[in-house]
Amino acid sequence: VSFVRSPIEIVYPYKHSTGPIVGRALAAFAAGRILGSRCDVCGLVGVPARDWCDHCGGATRETMACGPGGVVTAVARVHEPTDIAPDVEAWALIRVDGAGTDLVHAVRGVVEAGDRVRPVWRVERRGAITDIECFERGEASPAADVEPGAPVEVFERVISLPYTLTAGSLLSRFFDDIRDHRRLHGVRCTSCRMVIVPPLPACATCWADTEGWVEVADRGTVTTFVVVNVPFHGQEMPLPYVLARVLLDGSDTSMLHVLGDVAPGDVRMGLRVEAVWADERTGYPADDIRSFRPTGEPDIPPERFIDRL
Ligand SMILES: [Zn+2]
Ligand SMILES: [Zn+2]
Repeated sequence: VSFVRSPIEIVYPYKHSTGPIVGRALAAFAAGRILGSRCDVCGLVGVPARDWCDHCGGATRETMACGPGGVVTAVARVHEPTDIAPDVEAWALIRVDGAGTDLVHAVRGVVEAGDRVRPVWRVERRGAITDIECFERGEASPAADVEPGAPVEVFERVISLPYTLTAGSLLSRFFDDIRDHRRLHGVRCTSCRMVIVPPLPACATCWADTEGWVEVADRGTVTTFVVVNVPFHGQEMPLPYVLARVLLDGSDTSMLHVLGDVAPGDVRMGLRVEAVWADERTGYPADDIRSFRPTGEPDIPPERFIDRL
């Protein structure tokens, strides 16, 4: 059995509201300055400035310029660079002058714990910790005499989690059959006898092993559905569109897919649909089956699928 491997990327875009003190710290970075904040309760100075004390949880209101130089307290060398920070040679904890906490940042060149370091500022700054490209060994010159602008209230982030999915033997065979033969298969639970599509090594209902290789139809019944009206990041389908769970004939589990050739207002539970196969197939079911469309057969009454939504 050859295993299907597929690169996948999960992307989470979001807007981060910073809070009043962090907003000022970010504005300070844009001005080429490092800002700290003092805890009202224990007096600890946190760098970069933050709204709450790391040590005791007290609020911080007073902010002050810190650094820009500091002392390295610990270094971790990067042996295998990642895509996210390909140029970083080492990460360090840096106790910026005036701070009671350490800052994590990249360091360049030979740097060891105890060394004095200075920030290397980017020419183009946008109000983020990455406005400091890295720290390097040496004494800092005084901070730029630039007044920070208005606090940065919101910044937009995209968290990206790329990974490679390796399908197991069952799913690999399932994908191959779709690509090469336009056929859909499931497996049967050895205990409750349910046919599970896509195939899984264990039954999702009773956890018993599964067996066999059961062909199911490429047509079935809409059990539940949702009309998508809300735009979101990365959306490729024109709005509105319908996502439905389709209970294929011969299967006891439904699969999620897009409905096509039907107005959202005409979709209903019990609607009979069939797969629309792509001419060119790659082994990725979401693409190889373009959509499910109505067959024109009479609807199935809910009592015949209500226990298999
Ligand atoms: Zn405190
Ligand atoms: Zn079972």
